[in-house]
Amino acid sequence: MNPAARHAQLCREIAELDHAYYVLDAPKTSDRAYDALFDELRRLEAAQPELVHAGSPTQRVGGAPREGVTKVEHEHAMFSLDNTYDEAAVREFDRRVRDGLRTGSVVHYVAEPKLDGASLSVVYDRGQLVLGATRGDGRVGEEITPNVRTIRGLPLTIDDPRRMTLRGEVVIYKRDLATINQTRIARGEEPFANPRNAAAGSLRLLDTREAAERPLRVLFYELVDRYYATHHEALAAIRTLGLPTHGLHRVCDSLDTLLAFIAEFDLRRSQLPYETDGVVVKVDELAQRDLLGATARFPRWAIAYKYAAERVTTVVRAIECDLGRTGAITPVAVLDPVTVSGSVVSRASLHNSDYVADKDVRVADTVVIEKAGEVIPQVVSVDVGKRPPGTQPWQPPTQCPSCGHAVVRVADEAALRCPNASCPGRLEALLFYFTRRSGMDVDRLGESLIKQLVDTKLLRDVADIFALPEKRESLLALPRMGDKSCENLLASIEEAKRGRTFSQLLTALGIPLLGSVAASTVAGRYRNLRALLERPVEALRDELAEIHGIGPKMIDSLCAYLADPTQRAILEKLLQLGVVANEPEPEPVVTSGPLYGSSFCVTGVLTRPREAVHEQIRAAGGEVLDRVKKGTTYLVIGDKVGDTKLKAAKKQGAQIITEAELDALLQRDMRSS
Ligand code: AMP
Ligand code: ZN
Repeated sequence: MNPAARHAQLCREIAELDHAYYVLDAPKTSDRAYDALFDELRRLEAAQPELVHAGSPTQRVGGAPREGVTKVEHEHAMFSLDNTYDEAAVREFDRRVRDGLRTGSVVHYVAEPKLDGASLSVVYDRGQLVLGATRGDGRVGEEITPNVRTIRGLPLTIDDPRRMTLRGEVVIYKRDLATINQTRIARGEEPFANPRNAAAGSLRLLDTREAAERPLRVLFYELVDRYYATHHEALAAIRTLGLPTHGLHRVCDSLDTLLAFIAEFDLRRSQLPYETDGVVVKVDELAQRDLLGATARFPRWAIAYKYAAERVTTVVRAIECDLGRTGAITPVAVLDPVTVSGSVVSRASLHNSDYVADKDVRVADTVVIEKAGEVIPQVVSVDVGKRPPGTQPWQPPTQCPSCGHAVVRVADEAALRCPNASCPGRLEALLFYFTRRSGMDVDRLGESLIKQLVDTKLLRDVADIFALPEKRESLLALPRMGDKSCENLLASIEEAKRGRTFSQLLTALGIPLLGSVAASTVAGRYRNLRALLERPVEALRDELAEIHGIGPKMIDSLCAYLADPTQRAILEKLLQLGVVANEPEPEPVVTSGPLYGSSFCVTGVLTRPREAVHEQIRAAGGEVLDRVKKGTTYLVIGDKVGDTKLKAAKKQGAQIITEAELDALLQRDMRSS
């Protein structure tokens, strides 16, 4: 194939994979296979720069920071929506719409989720993405095209030459917000209160490379151009073009169906990966919209019905200070347990000492709690009228709650920190993180045991975990440590020593900014810790800059970590203690074999390393999943299986089988095929 044709093919394939991953939420390939395609594309473009064009996926991650803000005037004004909070107002809206149309007109409404993010206007022309802009005041917005191009689920090119102006919402998935906030807290930055703030802030970042590191998504809900007679047809067309949409609208032919949709959607929306705060009701037929027109601020053909955020009151019993693995100290309100938006809340973050001071939250206060954007419980306000006599304003700690070291407040940071690198509390937080599922998965090492082991100095750093098998005597001397639990602990350590991938190890180290996705990208490139440590840090810097998905801040953070002698010593110690953590070779994708068409999730302790089981399954054509999801065929269980996996399997209809049954499956099928 000639290079130009191959280039076009790669661009198309990568765009398809992005679409599957970011829009359909159904990845078609492994990260590694994706990276391989991307590498090939990059090499091709390096050899033949004339092939590079704006539609190439390599052009998503912009170059130099924007100089400043450029304003753009919207060709069509971006409206706000009239907000209502009750059914009566929706009825009233329906009446106004009917009054505004010829008597006897048939009115259809489209009801769709009101997405809670930042609004975005995008223009395609001759199939190319040519403009991205914020709403601004509705008439003039900010031009943010370079940042918009970094949004992965957004095609840079579409298969339609017409000029199209689309409106959508930029959102951040709830689960992604948690990751962003962990990093921000680790850096001493204020966490985002909700995905909306995170999305809006990220879109407007001046440094495009930084924006590219944010997990932004866009969902379109409006085609401005009049190419279709109805809104629902426009939504269908948007979808057919491969543009991301919510896909959750319903055409309603009566007020009753509309109200039913509003009620039903409220029950479903907490399951969605992104935030919604209501339903937008729009007249479906565009000709009718034209008849209705708009006021200065709102179209008369649409209305937003907003769900009230559930708020409850409870009492603050204590204000504790949580210590993170990087030393950040976060005040947390300990509450009388209450149910908010479907779950019981007994602690709420107070973010930082300024926040506590601003709201003047005191122990014994009655406070109003709300789940900010449904995820993180927040203290919204204090009911000062209910404050008992004799309370005192909360005093921020002057000493670390764990080691007593004087806390510091880094300039420009809202967070207080314990600067003591050998602080036991920080170490406990790090050990806890290190041993979680996403990391080294030492399931027998729980929070209280970690604390005991740190107190007794059996653990002074993360590497010491792997020296525990040599210290059986000391372990058995611990209170509440029986023979059996000691054996189990050591077995789970042995398993972690050999059964983890390099990406798990890198994730577990908790290097600031290096989340599990970035960690697995780096792991795929270097394959094991020894190889990574052997690279001179400066060379590493250049190599990392070449890797797709690794941004400059991540590089700084990883290089600083690797240049730190204390950290290096710990990494060397991990190797000496026999931690293997090899990244498996990229699997050639098997498209036949006895297990082809079935998917497997393996859990618990098996007689052989989990990776080996995974390999066998893949070799036989089966698909390996790291969690049970919809459509998973089998959950293979070993010893010590977590309840959640079993529940998930039952819920999703996966068949639960033992390791022996898996072997039988493998064997029987081998013979019969
Ligand atoms: P408001 O900001 O309260 O005036 O509400 C208007 C905003 O709602 C618009 O600018 C959009 O960003 C946002 N919005 C979210 N979902 C939708 C939707 N499905 N249709 C129209 N607007 C939406
Ligand atoms: Zn400390």
